[in-house]
Amino acid sequence: AAASSGGLVAYADSGADTAVEKPQLPQRKKVIVLGTGWGGTTFLRNLDTRLYDVQVISPRNYFAFTPLLPSVTSGTVEPRSIVEPIRRILEKKGGEIKFWEAECFKIDPQNKKIHCRSNLGTNLDGNGEFLVDYDYLVVAVGARTNTFNTPGVVENCHFLKEVEDAQKIRRSVMDCFERASLPFLDDEERKKNLHFVVVGGGPTGVEFAASLHDFVTEDLSKLYPSIQHLVKISLIEAADHILTMFDKRITNFAEDKFGRDGIDVKTGYKVVKVSKDAITMQNPATGDISVPYGMAVWSTGIGTRPFIVEFMKQIGQGNRRVLATDEWLRVRECDGVYAIGDCATINQRRVMEDISEIFRVADKDKSGTLTVKEIQDVLDDIYVRYPQVQLYLKSKQMNGVADLVRSAKGDAEKESVELNIEEFKKALSLVDSQVKFLPATAQVASQQGQYLARCFNKMKDAEEHPEGPIRIRGEGRHRFLPFRYRHLGQFAPLGGEQTAAQLPGDWISIGHSTQWLWYSVYATKQISWRTRMLVVSDWTRRFIFGRDSSC
Ligand code: FAD
Ligand code: MG
Ligand code: MG
Ligand code: MG
Ligand code: MG
Repeated sequence: AAASSGGLVAYADSGADTAVEKPQLPQRKKVIVLGTGWGGTTFLRNLDTRLYDVQVISPRNYFAFTPLLPSVTSGTVEPRSIVEPIRRILEKKGGEIKFWEAECFKIDPQNKKIHCRSNLGTNLDGNGEFLVDYDYLVVAVGARTNTFNTPGVVENCHFLKEVEDAQKIRRSVMDCFERASLPFLDDEERKKNLHFVVVGGGPTGVEFAASLHDFVTEDLSKLYPSIQHLVKISLIEAADHILTMFDKRITNFAEDKFGRDGIDVKTGYKVVKVSKDAITMQNPATGDISVPYGMAVWSTGIGTRPFIVEFMKQIGQGNRRVLATDEWLRVRECDGVYAIGDCATINQRRVMEDISEIFRVADKDKSGTLTVKEIQDVLDDIYVRYPQVQLYLKSKQMNGVADLVRSAKGDAEKESVELNIEEFKKALSLVDSQVKFLPATAQVASQQGQYLARCFNKMKDAEEHPEGPIRIRGEGRHRFLPFRYRHLGQFAPLGGEQTAAQLPGDWISIGHSTQWLWYSVYATKQISWRTRMLVVSDWTRRFIFGRDSSC
């Protein structure tokens, strides 16, 4: 009937009103996610995507399982086995999520817009730029490799951050071996080509050196018998030890093992220049020394991406090194902007900033002093908001409030167990020294992604019922508990089927059995059954046939 002329007239008669009365879907807020790494992907996988209009922007249309990148450099695991297309991940969520393969190059928090650029095509202006607006922006763009502006690094060294990097390293290792085999080289030149240098004794540098050593001793030495004795691997670290973030026992074990393996660990050396043929390093005792090398991998830590540095200047964080958020992962100065993972750091609130407020809230009877009971009653809230208090009590082996009160009072005044504000300040004066910065790891990024998704899933609820469990600070009552990191432990694979692990509660485990723990943990952590199967079959293939040396 609507198609008949009568129907059309009826529409025309009722005028503009009908158009307005068209059923309107509730407007969903726009969430833009920048990045498809650990943080961004975990956020997306946990987000209830029916609640938001979600758009994902990243120059990379896949997720990469970074802990297995060192295994890719030696061909133990194939590159395809550790990546999962982001569109496949999004498809599993159902509903519609848009993905744009582009990079964000500017954030405009005033207008709630981001500027993006794709290098896959051009618009009418002849460039690949476009604008996207947001209600909520989740920044999960990770970090870049830090060269400390050392000359020649960008031109001559490999990094190990992306899948392409790992592939390039693998090719480069094979090139060095083939070049060293050419008939017209003398031994000196062969040696140079077979000198592999790793700069940086952190987990990535150490694991890479170990996996290269395995590759050389287990596979390449058989294939290149006439030159295998010329191979040398050096690991250069500016600090006094390698793996300094691990327990002393692990550091010592790793240094000893590398020593036995013939990996030349040079601690206390700072690389100051890299040219095409030589690496120059500095040590107070020896001065500058230059060594010829065939291939170098630079792995000395991470820095902030340039567009994030610009963003920080814009929002008054120009004096910081890393973008800061509060414990709810919000970028304080910008409405609706969140940051997670390697691109951000949590600015843990200090107890001393809030000490009077804490005192006021705890002093329920308004007596001007706090009893042990009064402190006890707010202690759980304090622990949630200021985890450093709990860490402090633990580090001082104090058993709760009574000990804390005693420490402030001194033994002399056993009678009086009430603290005035000055004494309360004194009791807590050292707790902020226990504030910990979280490491730049996949573990942190994914826990943050998961936490933030949960907050987003309950956001509406929280807006309607703003009373939160945290009542310590007056300003901005939060319904959500602050983000809290749970450390599940960390591995350091050391080659020769041996791994070191530092597990929660300072539990240390080193050796072949830990390697099996490593295999099972990383098989479990795979993002899909497809990649899990690929990785496990790569491992099996390696056990049976060894690593592939064609490149
Ligand atoms: P990333 O995972 O780096 O993701 C960043 C994303 O942002 C990428 O998709 C990138 O393409 C995208 N992006 C970049 N620029 C832009 C832009 N301008 N606009 C939009 N998108 C952008 N951690 C562990 O816990 N255990 C390990 O064993 C471990 N091993 C590692 C081994 C190696 C070799 C490396 C390199 C890292 C390892 N890590 C490990 C650290 C871990 O990979 C990082 O901490 C983690 O990737 C951080 O996650 P993220 O989401 O912050 O950043
Ligand atoms: Mg990410
Ligand atoms: Mg990643
Ligand atoms: Mg971080
Ligand atoms: Mg009181």
